[in-house]
Amino acid sequence: MEKKRFNIVVIGSGPGGYVAAIKAAQNGRSVALVEKSFLGGTCLNVGCIPTKTLLANAHVMHKIKMSEEYGITTGPVMFDFLKMKTRKDHVVEKIRNSLGGLLQSNKITIFNGKGEFLSPTEIKVVGEENCILESENTIIATGSEPLDLSAFPCDHIRILNSTSILELTKLPKSLAIIGGGYIGCEFASLYAEFGVKVTILEALPSILSLQGKAVSEGLTRAFKKQGIDVRTNVFVEGIEHAGEGVSVKLKDSEPMQFDLALVAVGRTYNSGHFGLEKAGVSVGEKGEIPVNEKMETNVPGIYAIGDVTGRFLLAHVASHQGIVAACNILGEEMVMHYNAVPAVIFTTPEIATVGMTLEEAKENGYNARIGKFPFSALGKSIATMDTEGFTEVIVDKETGQILGAQVLGNEASTLIAEMALAINNELTIECIFETIHAHPTVAEAWIEAALVANDMPMHMPPRRK
Ligand SMILES: Cc1cc2nc3c(=O)[nH]c(=O)nc-3n(C[C@H](O)[C@H](O)[C@H](O)COP(=O)(O)OP(=O)(O)OC[C@H]3O[C@@H](n4cnc5c(N)ncnc54)[C@H](O)[C@@H]3O)c2cc1C
Repeated sequence: MEKKRFNIVVIGSGPGGYVAAIKAAQNGRSVALVEKSFLGGTCLNVGCIPTKTLLANAHVMHKIKMSEEYGITTGPVMFDFLKMKTRKDHVVEKIRNSLGGLLQSNKITIFNGKGEFLSPTEIKVVGEENCILESENTIIATGSEPLDLSAFPCDHIRILNSTSILELTKLPKSLAIIGGGYIGCEFASLYAEFGVKVTILEALPSILSLQGKAVSEGLTRAFKKQGIDVRTNVFVEGIEHAGEGVSVKLKDSEPMQFDLALVAVGRTYNSGHFGLEKAGVSVGEKGEIPVNEKMETNVPGIYAIGDVTGRFLLAHVASHQGIVAACNILGEEMVMHYNAVPAVIFTTPEIATVGMTLEEAKENGYNARIGKFPFSALGKSIATMDTEGFTEVIVDKETGQILGAQVLGNEASTLIAEMALAINNELTIECIFETIHAHPTVAEAWIEAALVANDMPMHMPPRRK
């Protein structure tokens, strides 16, 4: 088999792998990028981009439903789900083509095939091209896949996962979503908006249990208003075909019948079947690849980034880890920090969080206080009729340092960037209310929440002593 030499080999072209490859190539290194499926990984092909493209349709639908309140009378509203799916496919294809061009313009050599370690410095590629790549440095960016549990056998026709549900061309009448994490909640928002009877079945006491009480309770209330049946503390024992649909077996209660079921119970790490043992790379109990803060594995010269490392499972975290790994290979020492990672859930209303919740701040020993401001008291939100939700900022009482922030509401995904910047740069609450924010904008909600945290509310009555 032909041997080819590169400075760096990257396995996997998701947001972790391709960003690492570009960073290294821009600094003059020869880079091989090995991809066994489509360029762009989970995020571009079956994750962030296709879901947000479909959710954009749902947001338009949401506004249309409210149109009467804006004084606009519409006729009967029709929609074509197949057209929406086709638009989603076009968006993905367009971005994938642009990514191919971007990688080529950076002189990155792409190998379409599966990468498999033969030794710490040799990777065999099997696919469209068969060859052996040699390099001193390898970055593993193989990502994750939907968790397949035997109790929930996905046939991808009636029992779906987050990948196969994206291929639906017709709406079901009813949909069970097993798992109330962010993926389950985003699909719930999407399908409910188009009139599907959605039921979320969550084993824990709340949906979005990792996001903090206020946002979890806020979204549950909003979902219930939208007709989504949110059932918590429900243990699903199995799913099977029944009649034309599926039957969901529940512990301690009667089975429930649906047209389709979506299994959204977690992800599994892609660390098997590509020769990690031949390279000597350690794998953790859950299949994750342990790394240090420089993204180094236990084997010198081999780095791992993104979902496969088992932390955060977010595209932007994967990309940042890719930059960290590439910089360390380039000799510019860089370490990964996780204290200011924004996370967004694109439901209606949106949710965005960064840093600590109040509960976490207290658990970490901070004398923390909270400043909360409802959008119902903000001029811009009243004008646009997006008054649902709030901004919340968590502050260290002693120093005024911002420790965390949460938003539930319209434009949460954009709003959170300001707090990520503040936390990453260890800013205090004064920095927020001393910064002039344009009026009328939803960003003013940060000034208001900061003033509340400082006991000096401007557009809310003072706290009762
Ligand atoms: C439905 C859904 C919605 C999501 N929405 C968001 C969102 O809104 N925001 C967000 O930040 N994150 C979101 N995510 C998560 C995000 O997609 C992942 O965190 C991100 O894609 C991880 O990037 P990665 O580079 O680690 O791996 P991946 O994107 O998974 O890419 C890994 C790549 O490696 C390839 N590969 C694996 N093994 C080999 C091998 N041996 N040889 C060659 N190639 C290989 C795979 O084919 C794949 O292309 C979503 C995920 C899902 C499922």
